[in-house]
Amino acid sequence: MQSVYCYFILALVLGFFNTATTAPNRETIQECNLNQEIIRDIQSYQNVVNSIIDFITKGEFKGKVFQDLALFTDTFGSRLTGTENLEHSIDYLLNLMNQYEMHNVHAENVTVPRWRRLKEYGELLSPRNAELPVVALGSSVGTGKNGITAEVMVVKSFDELNNKSRGEVEGKIIVYNQDWVNYDHDYDYRSKGATEASKKGAVASLVRSLTPFSMRTLYTGQQTYRNNVTKIPALCISVEDAHMLQRMQDRGNKIIIHLNVSTETLSNSTSRNVIADLTGAEYPDKIVAVTAHSDSWDAGTGSMDDGGGIFMSLYALKVLKELGLKPRRTVRSLIFTGEEQCYCGVNEYNDKHASDLENFIFVMENDEGVWNPLGLNYTAGPMGGCVLKEILKLLLPLNATRADYVENVGSDISLWTKSLIPGTSLLNENGKWFWFQHTQADTLDVIDSDQMDKALAVWASVAYVIADMKIQFPSRFE
Ligand SMILES: [Zn+2]
Repeated sequence: MQSVYCYFILALVLGFFNTATTAPNRETIQECNLNQEIIRDIQSYQNVVNSIIDFITKGEFKGKVFQDLALFTDTFGSRLTGTENLEHSIDYLLNLMNQYEMHNVHAENVTVPRWRRLKEYGELLSPRNAELPVVALGSSVGTGKNGITAEVMVVKSFDELNNKSRGEVEGKIIVYNQDWVNYDHDYDYRSKGATEASKKGAVASLVRSLTPFSMRTLYTGQQTYRNNVTKIPALCISVEDAHMLQRMQDRGNKIIIHLNVSTETLSNSTSRNVIADLTGAEYPDKIVAVTAHSDSWDAGTGSMDDGGGIFMSLYALKVLKELGLKPRRTVRSLIFTGEEQCYCGVNEYNDKHASDLENFIFVMENDEGVWNPLGLNYTAGPMGGCVLKEILKLLLPLNATRADYVENVGSDISLWTKSLIPGTSLLNENGKWFWFQHTQADTLDVIDSDQMDKALAVWASVAYVIADMKIQFPSRFE
């Protein structure tokens, strides 16, 4: 691998940094000091970007991406990893790519786990009798045929659990009523709540659903048992029920719950990543990847997570093709499988194509919503950030000019952006993402056709300009 210094010297030799003494007349030039030639090159794309925006938001393509997403999710619904349904939906995506006459359309096999829920039942027995809706987290074991009936202990945090003696916890069902702080905070309870409870001798773990807003919605997601702990059922309950159980405990009520859950883990199966190109006219080996994931959780229809992303990726290529735009470099649609349960698709792709990755100059992932676009979240070196900011000025007609640096951009692509390849995700008005994610409420109705058009216009424009501009997008180290 080349060192940071090599890139720096290269940058100086190529004159990427402006050494002229003329006063900057645009705000970011002061921060960025990009070479005028680069700025002029980027500015020259304004007409093309305007035509992409008009084509999608007012022209022939208005509403089309939403309609195609609707047809896709109405046809297939949820697409759990390891199911035939996911594979049928992947066949459909391959067909679409061929219909769109994209290049290099093919699938690559990926080994994925097969886990499924069979039965989920929860009942509050004391201090009153009521049904208590529960949902199993991915990879959770069941309760056994006769179920589990046990006293409940509610805790607000791992610290509170760890302050209890083993004797206090043993034989109980642990309920985590953790506050919603943010996804990363709550994610720990989902992913290791059962393991931590089991270490203390608990018989089941109920995690409060991961959301800042609930209509007694049940959330699911993957969890992992640490080695050498007894596998206990790992379930979620609604925010409202977690609050109620907390109140009951605070009043000194003895809480007893009955759970009867059954799940099944089958042998691994084969799924597929889906790949299609709009081949570059001048540097076909250089890749700008536009990614999303095909799989979803089994609740809802996965229209938002990540149906929206799938169609942003497909349509970014379709729009450029229909407009007759032929970028210098290749724009590649990469739809990974198995993201939700194991990042299996991206890991397999990474292993298989390790030697090609130096040709990946920029990666874009849409897995955080297709609402009104505000700009981009990105991970790149300083000069890469400046180039992106300059590109985003072209999106002024959509008011989507913000460039926010983030440490960890994307989900699948963070494997690459952390160290290797600059990348981005769509900065959009996705404040409600966690209301719906991994729940029955993830349906087409959370997506707005006009907003998705705008999101797509940003996505297609950014992909095109980066694939086509004169300089190659600065590396992660520049
Ligand atoms: Zn997702």
